[in-house]
Amino acid sequence: MKTVRIPATNQEFPIGKIVCLARNYAEHARELGNETPPAPVLFMKPASSVIGDGDTVRIPDYSEECHYEVELALLIGKKCQAVSAGHALDFVAGYAVAIDMTLRDVQNRLKAKGLPWEIAKGFDTACPLSDFVPATAVGDPHTLNLKLSVNGEIRQNGCSSDMINRIPEIVSHISAIFTLEPGDVILTGTPAGVGQVRAGDTMTAEIDSVGCLTIPVA
Ligand code: MG
Repeated sequence: MKTVRIPATNQEFPIGKIVCLARNYAEHARELGNETPPAPVLFMKPASSVIGDGDTVRIPDYSEECHYEVELALLIGKKCQAVSAGHALDFVAGYAVAIDMTLRDVQNRLKAKGLPWEIAKGFDTACPLSDFVPATAVGDPHTLNLKLSVNGEIRQNGCSSDMINRIPEIVSHISAIFTLEPGDVILTGTPAGVGQVRAGDTMTAEIDSVGCLTIPVA
């Protein structure tokens, strides 16, 4: 069973569901030609898609265009159902760095047909995830710089202050649809600058005071 860890507090949780937001940064929605949605756009990745720091993303053979998306991840620490935004942060145990690996060509084909995206977003190795830092170690989660480099060249450099839906509203919204349980993870969307990686590349993703991931691609 795959687990997520908060080393600072010696906590470990079996990974539950991974609920992800699409189009939560306006500039990124624009770069893909999408409208900014009136409500959060949600999808999920399975726990089996998670890999850790130093593990390799393996691009499936049914895609010619695999993209990186650096994202701030939240870990749910307590069961949470239809929580108000005012109390939502009480249920967030920690923060981590994630990369939402996306088979853009496959996703675009499926989107055009109105079909679900799971095979573009949930394949094995599609969710590199760092260890978590305790929520108490992160002052304001909306002042964090998110960076992603490919082979040492910076491709994404954004700030969590640019999220359209803020973390309390995200947790409140999701918990009204899916009961959130300890070990569930939320990916909060990516800033602009997404692009392609190829076999042989190495990605480095970093969020200030949260963590860092180094992930080769094969
Ligand atoms: Mg994403």
